[in-house]
Amino acid sequence: MDLFDSNSTERANLPRNMIENSMFEEEPDVVDLAKDSAAFPAFPALDPDEVAYEPRSSRLLVRGLGENDMDEDEEDCESSARLLGMSFMNRSSALRSSSSPYARQAPPRSCTRPSARTMVVCVLFLVIVVSMIMVLYFLPGCTFTKAGCRKPNKTSPLEPVYPVSTSGELFPWTQLRLPHSIHPLSYELTLTPDLDDMTFTGRTVINMSILHNSKLIVLHAQNFNITKATFKLGDGQASAVTVLEYKPRRQIAVKFKEELKAGQFCVLTLDYSANLSHSYDGFYNSSYTDEDGNRRVLAATQFEPLSARKAFPCFDEPTFKATFLIKINRKQNYMSLSNMPKAKSTPLSDGLVQDEFEKSSVNMSTYLVAFTVANFTPITKNVSETVVSVYSVPEKKEYTDYALETASKLLEFYNNFFDINYPLKKLDLVAIPDFLAGAMENWGLITFRETSLLVGKESSPLEKQVVASVIAHELAHQWFGNLVTMSWWSDLWLNEGFATYMQYMSLQTVLPKLDIGNLFLAVRFRAMDKDALNSSHAVSTEVNTPEQVDEMFDSVSYEKGASILLMLNSSFPGDQQFRKGIIQYLKQFSGLNTETGDLWNSLSQVSTQHQNVSEMMSSWTSQKGFPLVTISRKGDQVTLTQEHFLLTSDNATRTSSLWNIPVTYVNDSCSLAPECRQMFTLKSKSDTLKLPESVKWLKLNYRNTGFYIVHYGDEGWHALIEALSTNVSVLTHEDRASLIHNMFALSRLGRVSFRQVLNLLNYMSNETETSPVTEALLQLNSIYRLLDKRQEYNLVARMKTYILKHFDSLIEKQTWGEEESVSKEELRSALLGTACSLEEENCTKKAKSLFKQYVESNGTFKIPGDLQLVVFSVAAQSDEDWSTLLTMYRTATNDAEKRKILQGLASTQDPRRVVWILKEGLNGNIIQTQELPLVINTMCKGFAGYLFVWDFIQVNWDSLIAKFRVGSFAIQTIITSATSQFSTQAHLDQVQAFFSSLKERGSQMRSAQEAFETIRLNKRWMDNNISTLRKWL
Ligand SMILES: [Zn+2]
Repeated sequence: MDLFDSNSTERANLPRNMIENSMFEEEPDVVDLAKDSAAFPAFPALDPDEVAYEPRSSRLLVRGLGENDMDEDEEDCESSARLLGMSFMNRSSALRSSSSPYARQAPPRSCTRPSARTMVVCVLFLVIVVSMIMVLYFLPGCTFTKAGCRKPNKTSPLEPVYPVSTSGELFPWTQLRLPHSIHPLSYELTLTPDLDDMTFTGRTVINMSILHNSKLIVLHAQNFNITKATFKLGDGQASAVTVLEYKPRRQIAVKFKEELKAGQFCVLTLDYSANLSHSYDGFYNSSYTDEDGNRRVLAATQFEPLSARKAFPCFDEPTFKATFLIKINRKQNYMSLSNMPKAKSTPLSDGLVQDEFEKSSVNMSTYLVAFTVANFTPITKNVSETVVSVYSVPEKKEYTDYALETASKLLEFYNNFFDINYPLKKLDLVAIPDFLAGAMENWGLITFRETSLLVGKESSPLEKQVVASVIAHELAHQWFGNLVTMSWWSDLWLNEGFATYMQYMSLQTVLPKLDIGNLFLAVRFRAMDKDALNSSHAVSTEVNTPEQVDEMFDSVSYEKGASILLMLNSSFPGDQQFRKGIIQYLKQFSGLNTETGDLWNSLSQVSTQHQNVSEMMSSWTSQKGFPLVTISRKGDQVTLTQEHFLLTSDNATRTSSLWNIPVTYVNDSCSLAPECRQMFTLKSKSDTLKLPESVKWLKLNYRNTGFYIVHYGDEGWHALIEALSTNVSVLTHEDRASLIHNMFALSRLGRVSFRQVLNLLNYMSNETETSPVTEALLQLNSIYRLLDKRQEYNLVARMKTYILKHFDSLIEKQTWGEEESVSKEELRSALLGTACSLEEENCTKKAKSLFKQYVESNGTFKIPGDLQLVVFSVAAQSDEDWSTLLTMYRTATNDAEKRKILQGLASTQDPRRVVWILKEGLNGNIIQTQELPLVINTMCKGFAGYLFVWDFIQVNWDSLIAKFRVGSFAIQTIITSATSQFSTQAHLDQVQAFFSSLKERGSQMRSAQEAFETIRLNKRWMDNNISTLRKWL
């Protein structure tokens, strides 16, 4: 999946599951569930023997608060004590001493007339009795029974607390993850959507293989009305079965009296009806207005990560791969698409047509299944053995050529690069009018947001870059993700980190003109900024709940994942070794599921230097954060020291993490060509390397391919700044950008003063390359915005003067006409965007005149794509032009342009308009709800927006999580945007109070923790630097 600026899917009744979990979590440890079943009102009165306690996120189930069970099982005593605390222990001890036959046998008698002998005997007897009682106290009762004690069995949970299914009967499964005793082999789905009623009926036939003896089948299903269920074992007769449903976990189950035996095959057939989803996941409805003004409806799917279960009952976890045969019954005036090519169309008696698709030739995880029912128009091309098509609504067909051409080139590249041909006969790329994510890699039927796929012939190179990189990402998934799939969402990065890395790598080769390198560099900087927070997480992280699964779709899985793959590839000699390892991995695990270690093992096997890839890379995937490498130099000795670069670092959070860092470096005698690069592996806390004394300066992390930050010390920085002031070309532009990024990061960490940041920026008057300039502007703008929000008007004015003065000559050089080079477009849109937002007069004047020309030309005059946002944002500040923009927004057909008009509208500083846009974004009539995260992100940059947005979020929280789901990338974006500009204690208190009031409606989200941390850091930065700024700016 490509996140773009928002993620897919919504699940309205998610909180129910969280309520369920938090009930378990918050229950006092010593509650006696057996006696007090009223403590869990959802449970009926149960036999004490059946009651157990299931801690959240733990597979360890402790049974037996019932008295009889206590003596039977050693594990009961141990685990119960551990989990339930001493009061439970005391209770059990008391029980045992009164019920044990040994205790009753030995009552100490008193000696009425004691002789010395009797006394000795009595004392001895007493000692023996006391010892025996003590033994009984400390040994479990089972020690003395015939059966003895059972060995603890950690893998098979004991009898759990069974929740109650919808019918009132106990549901026979207690865990979030499905049992592995039965595996699906193939599905046959028949779906009949009714786009007038927004409902559908379905029949799902699942062929299964029984791997272990079992009395139940458990699978996922959500929001279905199951009308009929039959079961057939082997060659036997199909018979009706009862399906139990447990809604909070979206599971259904069928219980059997007789055990199903390992090695047998069986078939479950379910008929059901349901509503089409009104959110962006499952089998959902979408609509658009065609060129004649008619409302058109369509239905599409988005299943990743957990929504296939909303369209058909299934084993909805990535390891349960199976084949799929899909049939769609549709009205004659629609067409349908699915993963596989259409096999045949048959008219049905009720006037519908049944489209039957070929049975999938590959085993697929459920999240990759897809189908659409709509009126799409295709354009098609043959590439090797594959028919590649791009589909859109008919009126947007003219925007599909670029996607077809790009997808074809990339398919050829990947077929060759992976040395495995794309396995299906067709590959469709479909632009869906309502789509929350950027795109979704469904096998053979990749779905896109219109803005991620459609682009005009005259669109700017930068707009084409957006489309090409999303296509490159999704195509890479056809191998990474679809062919070889992560076993569980905890290793999502194996899908997303890889697809992200391949999207940049493939475009550098296939479409070098798109200059994708600058974007990838910026992406790595932003990934570090996020990963420097204590609220970050390891690349591979344990996830259990649906909310945690959603939260994995974040910068760490995508961007840090891609960054560490680049670092690994760069550490290999030559460019073929990494590729060989990847090919080996894909071939070895083709059609299977993997964990992170499998990838490292494959790469270790091809290492010509017998490099232990696992050892190196596990230090990057198993711990959060990344290292700061500090240099100190004495003569020819350079000492490198590593520590965790943690922005929030106090004694409580300080870690002793160590990374295996492939440190690269260049020096003043040779610093540009790849041959200049030298390498040194830093594994320990500190190590030294030798350099010729004549070396004047060192630059580490050549071209910023490593995921670490470098502090050169006062002298080191001084030497580098001096070298750059004399000649900027002594370092590559990536290295210059990396110095700027690292310096700002060190300032945030408190290791360098802001004076040193300004010293480095002094060299910028000679800088002309895109990546150093855009990085410096991004950093300065973010400080400017924080000051603006703090209403430090004097400093705001000085900051503005500083920025304009430093970039003045570059700003003046920018043109406003069509531009061929992506890199130049990136540079000028950053420079002019900054100048106009700082209300630099020439810039705003030019922008206004372009807008006027554009409006008056009646569509014949085009504003270059990279400058549209600059121009529309200036226009949106005037009353009249804002209204004109709104009219344009309602009628625009070019989606890329439409999106920039919306951002322009959202940049208004008029509170009434801010409120209106937010409301419209939520109700989705004029402004598509899928754009709300983008709207919020844009608004929060301005002063008017950011205060209103925070209020809006608090008031409308329940509607927001109904649309976007707790933990989703869209919600992450909304929270981050709304809170990242706060820098005061008052705001921190407000944000904390709000999130803690949410309880199960989102208080546990990682993005809430991230928000608290960011506000604290902003506050710290302000406290430490405002006086310096007053002095130096
Ligand atoms: Zn992806």
